[in-house]
Amino acid sequence: MSLDMSSSQKASDLISHARSVVEQAQHALNTSLSYIKSLCINESGRLSGSKLDEYQLVSYELAYSSAEIAAANTMCNYATQIREAKGDQDNAYLEEEIALMFCAEAVQNTRSRLSARQNEFGLSTEQFSTAFETDNTVKFCQEYQQTSKLVELGNFMLDQDGRTADYLLDEDKEIMRESFQRFASDVVMPKAEHIHRDDLMIPDEILKPLVEMGCFGLSIPEKYDGLLVDGKEDNLGMIVVTEELSRGSLAAAGSLITRPEILSRALLAGGTEEQKQHWLPKLAWAEPFCAVAITEPDFGSDVAGMKLKAEKVDGGWVLNGAKTWCTFGGKAGVLLTLARTNPEPGLGHKGLSMFLVEKPSSDGHEFRHELERGGVISGKAIPTIGYRGMHSFDVFFDNVFVPDSHLLGGEAGLGKGFYYTMAGFSGGRIQTAARANGVMQAAYEKAISYSKERKVFGQRLGNYQLTLVKLARMASLMTASRQFTYSVGRLMDEGKGQMEASLVKLFACKSSEWLTREAMQIHGGMGYAEESAVSRYWIDARVLSIFEGAEETLALKVIARSLIENAA
Ligand SMILES: Cc1cc2nc3c(=O)[nH]c(=O)nc-3n(C[C@H](O)[C@H](O)[C@H](O)COP(=O)(O)OP(=O)(O)OC[C@H]3O[C@@H](n4cnc5c(N)ncnc54)[C@H](O)[C@@H]3O)c2cc1C
Repeated sequence: MSLDMSSSQKASDLISHARSVVEQAQHALNTSLSYIKSLCINESGRLSGSKLDEYQLVSYELAYSSAEIAAANTMCNYATQIREAKGDQDNAYLEEEIALMFCAEAVQNTRSRLSARQNEFGLSTEQFSTAFETDNTVKFCQEYQQTSKLVELGNFMLDQDGRTADYLLDEDKEIMRESFQRFASDVVMPKAEHIHRDDLMIPDEILKPLVEMGCFGLSIPEKYDGLLVDGKEDNLGMIVVTEELSRGSLAAAGSLITRPEILSRALLAGGTEEQKQHWLPKLAWAEPFCAVAITEPDFGSDVAGMKLKAEKVDGGWVLNGAKTWCTFGGKAGVLLTLARTNPEPGLGHKGLSMFLVEKPSSDGHEFRHELERGGVISGKAIPTIGYRGMHSFDVFFDNVFVPDSHLLGGEAGLGKGFYYTMAGFSGGRIQTAARANGVMQAAYEKAISYSKERKVFGQRLGNYQLTLVKLARMASLMTASRQFTYSVGRLMDEGKGQMEASLVKLFACKSSEWLTREAMQIHGGMGYAEESAVSRYWIDARVLSIFEGAEETLALKVIARSLIENAA
């Protein structure tokens, strides 16, 4: 698959050119990060959180630009790997053209953000010009953003039936991808609309085969009866499966794995050997299903503030209080629950511990269980605009007794609940990026097919320039997001990549909002109808920037803070 677009210059030289342009943009970001650091260092030489809050806007823009530029770097690597894999030829490969376009857009976007308040970013006119106004950069951005190039790519993509650039996966992962893609198309997609519109629980026809295929044990080592080869990480495998299932439905398939992923990571990080032996084999085969109860009515992003009360009694703990947004909390037989075991004011996150709270499983929108061990746990599903299929519950703990054996980490785990939450969520971010990629692919396929079918003013929609430009940008953004996610997954397999996982989560989730919006827009009035899948894709995509690290919290407290702290 190749495009006859860049024959005048060798594609590999063009990629080197792109790299140098992207590098300049990165340099400007580094300069700015150092500048903000200099403004926010307190007398003891440490970064001051309250000072940093005075620079939220620039911090957010730096975080988002860093994510986009990191994605551009990934695209340069991807283009190089494509040529290595496919061999030399005169014309540019589709993947190389997409990489060039994406780099041009990322640099242009970064330029616009920084130019709006150049002085606040601490960039002198000269520094800004060196980064963004050299002939090299200006020509590159103009060339790869020109309408004719976008139209050519749009036309090319229109002929591909929703197929996009090469996924560049090894054979094992490709087989995995294809089998879950088939499952999503044949089993999930036909049921997804019904589940969404009638707000139903995911049926057994989806749940059972996913359990049988081992999806719940993807992050659980073989020695605990999971699928993970002992001693090895396989984030990429989890990413590929999540993406394909999310293409079928975000809520009724792709997000199912998130819960065992979070629980197993928390258990592996903090559980005693006995707890791992007991729980991990059960979670791997969804016996029982599990859910995560961290968020409270008054505390979401601010995990350290959680206050669900756990009081020590003979043989265990008694839990009282409320959790909210506990997704799949009805169907689940065990809830990973963060509670305050030490009420001493001022202890903050150090007063939190993690419990595994057992309860009976149920399918409806409400539950109330008098527990054998003592106490009552009840829940009510929160009506939501999308993300339907698992139901997200308000959960109430009324004198719920939890034995000592269910305190994560045992005695040694006391006060470490916050860290176990973070360990659990470390895989959640990259997985959410994969979820965003799956939703984008689904929306993109619909946008392509509708552009081919629909006639307006006597011509098919796909003949118009504006439609073609949209399709080209969709292909470019989605490919960048996918390849960025894969590259971070590979990094995480080597035990690295935590910061990159936050960057890609931020980038992929925002991208999915734009892409699903445009796919919906291409459908005109039909896009607004409940019966078209694109309306669901758009609504579902909206939630991705809210959970697993709300966009602003992630950008400010995790990404910007760390980038600024580590700036030269
Ligand atoms: C459909 C759905 C499913 C969910 N499933 C689960 C689940 O299974 N388990 C679970 O525990 N939770 C779950 N959640 C909860 C989710 O993780 C929280 O909604 C999220 O952490 C945000 O918390 P919050 O809603 O309390 O928002 P808040 O923390 O109140 O934040 C409100 C807004 O303020 C922004 N903000 C935060 N800090 C700052 C700051 N310093 N400066 C500027 N802006 C800031 C946030 O980004 C956000 O936009 C789910 C949520 C939804 C919507």
